[in-house]
Amino acid sequence: MGLHMQVIIALLLGIKRNGHIFIGLILGVLVGLFFPKDSYGQVYSILSFIAKAFINIIQMVVLPLVISAIIIGVSNIGDSKQLAKFGSKMILYYGIITVLAVSIAAIIAIVMQPGLNAQSLVNPDIIQNVQGSVTEAIQYQKENMVQIFLDLIPKNPFEALASGNMIPVIIFVSIFAVALTRAGEISRPLVSFFESIFAATMKVTDWIMYLAAPGIFALTATAVSSFGVEIFGVISKYAIAICLALAIQFFIIYPIMLKVFSKVPVGRLYAAISEAIMVAFGTASSSATLPLTITCCEKRGISNKVCSFVLPLGATLNMDGTAIIQVIAVIFLAQMYGIDLSPLLIFEIAALAIVASSTSAGIPGAGMITIALILNGIGLTPQQLVVGFSLLFTIERFFDMLRTICNVTSDAIVAAIIADNENELNYELLCGVEGEKAQA
Ligand code: ASP
Repeated sequence: MGLHMQVIIALLLGIKRNGHIFIGLILGVLVGLFFPKDSYGQVYSILSFIAKAFINIIQMVVLPLVISAIIIGVSNIGDSKQLAKFGSKMILYYGIITVLAVSIAAIIAIVMQPGLNAQSLVNPDIIQNVQGSVTEAIQYQKENMVQIFLDLIPKNPFEALASGNMIPVIIFVSIFAVALTRAGEISRPLVSFFESIFAATMKVTDWIMYLAAPGIFALTATAVSSFGVEIFGVISKYAIAICLALAIQFFIIYPIMLKVFSKVPVGRLYAAISEAIMVAFGTASSSATLPLTITCCEKRGISNKVCSFVLPLGATLNMDGTAIIQVIAVIFLAQMYGIDLSPLLIFEIAALAIVASSTSAGIPGAGMITIALILNGIGLTPQQLVVGFSLLFTIERFFDMLRTICNVTSDAIVAAIIADNENELNYELLCGVEGEKAQA
């Protein structure tokens, strides 16, 4: 049986196993269609309240989880040789996945030319809303490039923590974790403290998952009711380009990565993480999905050592789905505004997307904010971009959900490859009874 057939079957079985979440998704689409935001403002407000409450609850555990996971992960790895080996492999595999992602996105956008017939689409309301934030973001980056890099080094880790600024927090916690490992036995009580925090956050996550079906229902319903389905007809070329690139990444690149760099059975891994994939789609947040990604991977045999090191870093830094959308969106804008797309410019867009995507937080909408970094890098002005930008924002939420699936899946793919390479994967658990069913 072909690789993608295996993947599709595994996903279908995953959907069957998570029928309640899937029903939440379908109902969400239906309710969103029958109660458009403009005509049913009150229904929308209720749905949006439930959706936001779900996101808040789920995000509540993210910070303690990321911190405790990194500290446990680094201290589990223990000796610095192994840490360097894990770290370098992680960077290598995340790097390969993201470079492939931006290359595929660029080729598809150049061949399909989605921006050519997009000029007629202008929504005056959204234009106004977006104009301010786009102008501001680009202006800030223009004036503060050096500062942006300096800010990655937290001079006050607690300030970074309080403002939820993830990359400086991760930098600080990683250094702190290595120091704890080096300090030896004396650091044991502190590591145990973080182990307790980790265990408690995983427990809270279990409870949160009881709310997954209503939460995902509300999230999907609010998204569909805000932008409706008509918009898909008008900008179908852009939508098809994105879906195609994400599908190639999901159905072809990830399985090839698994085949080339490990002996992990593709179908079984996809089946193992199917819950995380669906929650990623519903929440559009890698960070919010992180607890579940870790649970799925650990339950199916990837060691805690690998999960707690690779997955939290991946959920923050590895955003290949985001990079795909950013490349296609910027090329779309360039085509829409008649900018000559020379090979050098395309290369620049792709390279900037790698940086921009990895600075995106794992939360809904982050990728559309950091896209300003790419546009600014290729010398576009806010005045040129406002109409196109507002267009992208109109359908943003649905693609956010789709790209988050890739962001989360690729984290698990890299974790599985590293676990395989380092003998940290329990194949009996991965290919257990449920795994057998997935393959049947
Ligand atoms: N929503 C994405 C994620 O959480 C980030 C983004 O592209 O906006 O992975």
